[in-house]
This record gives sequence, C-alpha cells and structure tokens, in this order.
Amino acid sequence: MEVHCEGCAGCCLDWRALAPEGFDHGHERRGRYRPLDDVDNLVPLSCDEVRAFLAAGHAGAMVARLFRIDDGPSVAVGGVDVAAVRGRPAFLVGLAKVPKPVAPFDADPHWLPSCVFLDPATLQCRIHDEDTYPETCSTYPGDNLALDAETECERVERAHGGDRLVDDDPPADSDPAIGPGSIGSRVFVHPDPDRIEDAVSRLAAGEATRTDHAEFVAVAAASSPGTLAVNDDRYERARERAGEADSWVDGAIAEWSERVAAGESPDPETAAAVEKDRGAPGTPGWE
Ligand code: SF4
Repeated sequence: MEVHCEGCAGCCLDWRALAPEGFDHGHERRGRYRPLDDVDNLVPLSCDEVRAFLAAGHAGAMVARLFRIDDGPSVAVGGVDVAAVRGRPAFLVGLAKVPKPVAPFDADPHWLPSCVFLDPATLQCRIHDEDTYPETCSTYPGDNLALDAETECERVERAHGGDRLVDDDPPADSDPAIGPGSIGSRVFVHPDPDRIEDAVSRLAAGEATRTDHAEFVAVAAASSPGTLAVNDDRYERARERAGEADSWVDGAIAEWSERVAAGESPDPETAAAVEKDRGAPGTPGWE
C-alpha cells in the first residue's frame, strides 16, 4: 500500500465544503447508524487511547459521538432516540475537529473542520511520531482496503483528480477491528441515561460543551474491553482529570473559533501563532 499525502490530508479534514456539487460523500451517514453530529471523518479511539490522551492533558481534543438508529435497539435520552446496547446509550469517542485555515487539493485557503492535531500550514499530523498517534490513523487506509470499502484517498481522487492511492494492495498484516468484540474497547455504553439527558439534547442540537464531551470521555476511560461494566473509581479519576486538563489544544480551539467568528480570512500560516506558540509539536514539512 502506498499513498500520496502531500497537499491532501483528506482523511484528517471534513472537506465536504470543497466537494463538487452533488458529490456523494455520505459514507458516514449511510446504513442503520446515523451520527447525531454532522462532522465527517471521525477518528474513533480505543479505551487505552482515551486514557493516554487524558494522561497527556488532551481531554479537550476528544469528543463523543452517539447515533440514531433505524430498525434497531434504541433508548430515548433527552428527547432523542439513540442507539443502545441493553438499554444503555452506545457511543464512540473520537478526535475533535475545529475550523482551521487549510488549503488542500490546491484549493485556496478555506476554514474547514480539521483534526485538532493537523498542522494547517504543512497539512501534516503533529502527533505522527508520538505514542498517542491513534491506531485508526496508523492503519488507514489499509483497513478500508482489506474490507473492500472506499477510502478517503479514492474519494479525493474522484472529487479532485490526482493519484492519492498509489498502490491499493492492503498490507499483509491488516486486521480490521470490528464486531461485537469492540464493546468496551471502541464502542462504549453509558451506564446512566438520566445523567446525560441534557448532554444528548445539546449533542443533537450541535451545541455540546466540553463538559458534555468530558462525561463520555470519562466513561470510555473507565470501560474495559468485552464488557459493559464501568469502573466507578476510574470514572471519577478520569472525570477529574478531564476537568483539570489544559493543553495547547484548548487555547488553539478557542482562538480558531474566535477568528472564524470575527470573519478573519483563512491563512494557514497563522498556525504558528495559534498552535506552535502555545506548545504544539512541529511537523517536518514535505521538502
Ligand atoms: S491524529 Fe493526525 S493523522 Fe489522525 S486525523 Fe488527526 S491529524 Fe490526521
């Protein structure tokens, strides 16, 4: 498998705003499960990865995703029917996206929802060489190829031309992690639907707060693979840690949002002031 990533980062962005009119981009909104949020290309995290980001002070980099479901088990929470496992709301935890000034696919700079760890200037990942680099990113797009599912590389080629997926043979060691074994490791369940009524209403309205997401992050950190059980002590510690967390990510999210609200023109080079000066790791560039 060989990919050509320079000038792309399609899998780290929600680039629907740059797609040609009528472009079929709904891969995350097909099938029985439909996310409550409207952000594309979520990177789901395992419970170990959630704990690692919490330990690194990056609670603000994580968000929860719940689903509506057609013709399947659900539970009403906060006026919303959400997919459930044994009556408990099911959810994923993934990396947050924030509007950043990016210019992928030779386009002019645009404000596009971008992974918190994407450097807008180089379009490279700031944590690629760190222990926290998510498995989902490290196995992409190989796992899609192994499952015969369209990759983001191919979607970018369809929309913008070029050669992104240079060699489409899946890696020999591909082992896509899907199925019932994901419960407690990548698919989590919340033990107390009453506690998240307001949070679920806000998630469905696109108004979820960092505190709302932190509740789900703490439950995910207190979960264990193969079981619906949530460890109370672990949950309390994770909740506290999430509340205290303060990394460069938090300040950067706030400032990007302020710049968008102020109507600022998108300029990828402003990443130096917004992210690097706050302590974000650098990226090597493509030279
Ligand atoms: S962690 Fe890195 S590779 Fe993964 S989506 Fe974010 S920027 Fe992209």
